[in-house]
Amino acid sequence: MTVSNDNQHQDSVAAASVAGVDCHGGREQLTRAAEAAGNGELLAKYAADYPRGPHDQPQSMCPAFGALRVGLRMRRTASVLSGSACCVYGLTFTSHFYGARRSVGYVPFNSETLVTGKLFEDIRDAVHKLADPEHYDAIVVINLCVPTASGVPLRLLPKQINGVRIIGIDVPGFGVPTHAEAKDVLAGALLKFARAEAERGPVQAPRGGRSERPTIALLGEMFPVDPVTIGGLLEPLGLAAGPVIPNREWRELYAALDCVAVAAIHPFYTASIREFSAAGRPIVGSAPVGHDGTAAWLDAIGDTCGVARSQIDAAKNRVLPTIAKALSNSPIKGRITMSGYEGSELLVARLLVESGADVRYVGTACPRTEWSEADREWLAARGIHVQFRASLEQDVAAFEEFRPDLVIGTTPVVQKAKERATPALYFTNLISARPLMGAAGAGSLATVVNAAMGNKARFDDMLAFFEGVGTGNNSGIWTEEPVDHPEFREMNRRKMARQAAKRKAEEMM
Ligand code: SF4
Repeated sequence: MTVSNDNQHQDSVAAASVAGVDCHGGREQLTRAAEAAGNGELLAKYAADYPRGPHDQPQSMCPAFGALRVGLRMRRTASVLSGSACCVYGLTFTSHFYGARRSVGYVPFNSETLVTGKLFEDIRDAVHKLADPEHYDAIVVINLCVPTASGVPLRLLPKQINGVRIIGIDVPGFGVPTHAEAKDVLAGALLKFARAEAERGPVQAPRGGRSERPTIALLGEMFPVDPVTIGGLLEPLGLAAGPVIPNREWRELYAALDCVAVAAIHPFYTASIREFSAAGRPIVGSAPVGHDGTAAWLDAIGDTCGVARSQIDAAKNRVLPTIAKALSNSPIKGRITMSGYEGSELLVARLLVESGADVRYVGTACPRTEWSEADREWLAARGIHVQFRASLEQDVAAFEEFRPDLVIGTTPVVQKAKERATPALYFTNLISARPLMGAAGAGSLATVVNAAMGNKARFDDMLAFFEGVGTGNNSGIWTEEPVDHPEFREMNRRKMARQAAKRKAEEMM
């Protein structure tokens, strides 16, 4: 890497100042360092794409996991991390916990390689060694927090080596709020690369050949049955379901860009939508969930693609009675609050409401975008509070306020509910792993939701049986009954107050 002395110094200062910082503190320090290292423009772009909400710190897993997962799911794609060893350990562990069947590459660093710029050289060497076209179509390199804050310039990596594409992205926890949006960072970068290739000349056709009917590309990770169901809904409109982005194979990117319109099933894919828009593809928000959602979605897709009104109505008449019947055959009775970080929370809430559930609160860690507006309006019209960029505190407050029969939420919310003998389901594992679209989705939630609510009596029994055991200071295993010492807490509180006052006085001197 060739850099001027001034730049090198600036990089060194930035790198040295962030080497020991992690996501439990130091957001401002990392942000300042990243700006000083020349990444201010990138952070401004992330701030525009992924606006922050009431909380400015990830409250779920490391955001980079989203990008890593997208890379690991792609065939003939190598994923390489550049970051602190502890972050890489956690990300690798989580990847394999979730069944990644590919290795995670890692380029380690220390203070010296970070400060001198040698880390970039090491990454470049690693990428050169890995770039074997026999095995790979693409290599994805992900800068985590510290290398992003230090300005390790992945953009200077070669774009291709031996025909293997090299895609470098920065996914810092202090710039990308959720792991959902980190999926978009990589998906957007892949689409951008593929779009440039398609503009330069002919590209690979899809594995099964081009669809005879115009296609609708689908944005967002879905249960595998959902794209098939959507294909069935599109058929009477003379359309077909295109690839799902995030995709599983490089050539699907071209097929996705070749669509007539994009269905933003998950509404937070801002960078990906930018690429589709640049390719001239219109975007349709919401999704075909439940009766009303499917009707509105078919209208929107049909109108966007210039389908005749009679054909749209025929498509609706074909499917809507089946959906209505499936919903009435699987009723849900009970009050529910729900929250999650997948991006499909509003769609699930619509389905629950149409199944008869009394939904009071929907929290999503994702931001408000124009692609979820129809769902927000539909829910708001039914008096349901929708909280974008919901914090854990807001999700818990909703549970306290509405006293639901069932909580659907993230791990800590579910834990809180179960402690209070309220049945609860994890959104990610138990709800988003089910079909949601069309007739297959209608009624698919009832079994799991009703079974969970039916467990209330068991929770009450357990609470009564364990009453007072293992809570607060008594949790854990003790040989003697613990004795609380409030005077120690008071002593520490006074000590810390004295220290804070002393620091303040020193600052003013
Ligand atoms: S890379 Fe992830 S785990 Fe590491 S400091 Fe950043 S947000 Fe935290």
